[in-house]
Amino acid sequence: MSNVVSTVFEHTSVPYGEDGKLVRGIIARCGAPNCEAAVPLPVNLMANGRGMDGNIEWQFIARKLEQKGWRIGKSATAHRCPKCFSAAKFAAIRRSGEKTVVNKIEQSLQVVQENAKVMTREDRRIIFEKLNDVYIDGKVGYGRGWTDEKVANDLGVPRAWVKLLREENFGDEVGNEDIREQAAEAQAALAEIRKLEPDMRRLLALADKVEKSLAEIQKVLK
Ligand SMILES: [Zn+2]
Repeated sequence: MSNVVSTVFEHTSVPYGEDGKLVRGIIARCGAPNCEAAVPLPVNLMANGRGMDGNIEWQFIARKLEQKGWRIGKSATAHRCPKCFSAAKFAAIRRSGEKTVVNKIEQSLQVVQENAKVMTREDRRIIFEKLNDVYIDGKVGYGRGWTDEKVANDLGVPRAWVKLLREENFGDEVGNEDIREQAAEAQAALAEIRKLEPDMRRLLALADKVEKSLAEIQKVLK
């Protein structure tokens, strides 16, 4: 039924074709405050109250008007003419742009505040002691699982402080122990793969053999 449509659009006669004769149609009005824009659309071909689904009719009208740049809503006040629709879009873009800028400013402010914090002698002592605990030596680097970031989080101090003290007093961050372990794992995996080689060769030779006898059999079958 057209109940949905009749509350969303204004049913009336609208001019149609070159001679502008009046036919059944609707008028959609822009729902933006202080906007007078309206657009007529002939919907002459649609069944009127003879089982035509209002939702389908709404979709038909919406599609037609959206081709003309309108934004069609589900209520009479939700329609927007092309001008008001693009104004609303720009406003949304501007709002999200402003939000991004504000976020960026807040972030850099946080970084500045963090950097502005002065490391006290007590901070130095605590960080040094922690590094002394978890850093093995210049050759091995950090003990398993430890990094500048983890130390910083653990102590609740800026990561830059940890980096500074580590470089001054200990050595590189990268744990050679972890790297060595990864290399050993890769080596083991490689050995496993190499071990499969003889079996693969054997199976490939077998496949050759099977292929040959299959060819013989097929010759006989012809
Ligand atoms: Zn408008």
